[in-house]
Amino acid sequence: MARVRHDDGDPPDAPPGAASRPLLGGEAGADDAEAPGIRPQRFAEYIGQAALKRKLEVFVTAARQRREPLDHTLLHGPPGLGKTTMAQILAHEMGVRIHVTSGPAIEHKGVLAGHLTALTEGDVLFIDEIHRLSPTVEESLYSAMEDGRIDLPVGEGSRARTMPFSLAPFTLVGATTRTALLSAPLRERFQIHEGIDFYSDAELSQIVQRTAGLLGMPASADGANEIGRRSRGTPRIANRLTRRVRDFAQVRGRERIEAEDAHYALDQLGIDEAGLDGIDRRILEAILDQFEGGPVGIEALAATLSEPRDTLEDVYEPFLLQRGFLVRTPRGRQVTRKARAHLGRPAGPAPEGGAGQGELDL
Ligand code: ADP
Repeated sequence: MARVRHDDGDPPDAPPGAASRPLLGGEAGADDAEAPGIRPQRFAEYIGQAALKRKLEVFVTAARQRREPLDHTLLHGPPGLGKTTMAQILAHEMGVRIHVTSGPAIEHKGVLAGHLTALTEGDVLFIDEIHRLSPTVEESLYSAMEDGRIDLPVGEGSRARTMPFSLAPFTLVGATTRTALLSAPLRERFQIHEGIDFYSDAELSQIVQRTAGLLGMPASADGANEIGRRSRGTPRIANRLTRRVRDFAQVRGRERIEAEDAHYALDQLGIDEAGLDGIDRRILEAILDQFEGGPVGIEALAATLSEPRDTLEDVYEPFLLQRGFLVRTPRGRQVTRKARAHLGRPAGPAPEGGAGQGELDL
């Protein structure tokens, strides 16, 4: 399949400040550039997310039977869980080309028009971080999605006007870390909405085994489990840790990653037993030490840690919430007894009536 990638500078999903975070940042394409074949190309290679795959396979099959493009699809979930990969699989399974770009890279309507007019029938346009489109660009996208039309500027100066231009039928696949960040009119123009959840340890272990095999340093079941378990529920991190563990194993003269190699390497990398890295621990410790365990608002926490709010909310917090180290209460973030125990601190009070992982924007 011909694949068109519009590489617009920075990796589309790199959160602000990611450059200094080798283990958690974006770097969407970098892993794959080194070892082709690591990014799954087909539904069958995409590990986990069984319910999501089942539904999308039906939508793809139905669209193919009708000889129509797939409906516009919105994928949401934290970074590194496989949104870009799934967009590529959708294109591959539909037998069409994919054009890849991101919200911040589409700086004005002209850039969007360039992408849209380059599409041929059935193509997929993938816009990562679609919540970061500017309002004017977003507005031009509405008519493209709904009516297959955009207004192109013609002429100059006093004779400048716009002319409607009919687009080839296409599929927009948008990815966002949180649907709440998307404007309602844009959200409503997607006919398919699907979330991608954190992966189980067993699924991550399978991903590690697949990647390790492709990298030429197979992992034993125990070795893969050890890496999978400490990968924050995230395939991108599982792949990245697998590479680093391979380095340690190789230098130690191993031919296979065993649990002991994984354990040793991950300790050296500062990834603890629960998969938390130095920044995760700093977040929890800051709440404990500076805010007496919370509740604390996200702005105050971001200022204390000198981390961008977006990075905390998109990259770190979802996993800490999901694993029960942090809760969101009506008055802010609060550490849990589990977090205190993990950090070897006294038990402290139970968190206030928590709001779980709700969309409270504190
Ligand atoms: P996102 O777009 O959500 O940030 P990506 O699609 O770029 O995440 O995925 C990050 C990496 O993780 C990819 O390079 C891919 O190799 C791997 N990956 C993601 N999902 C899966 C999966 N379900 N099975 C195997 N590997 C996966």
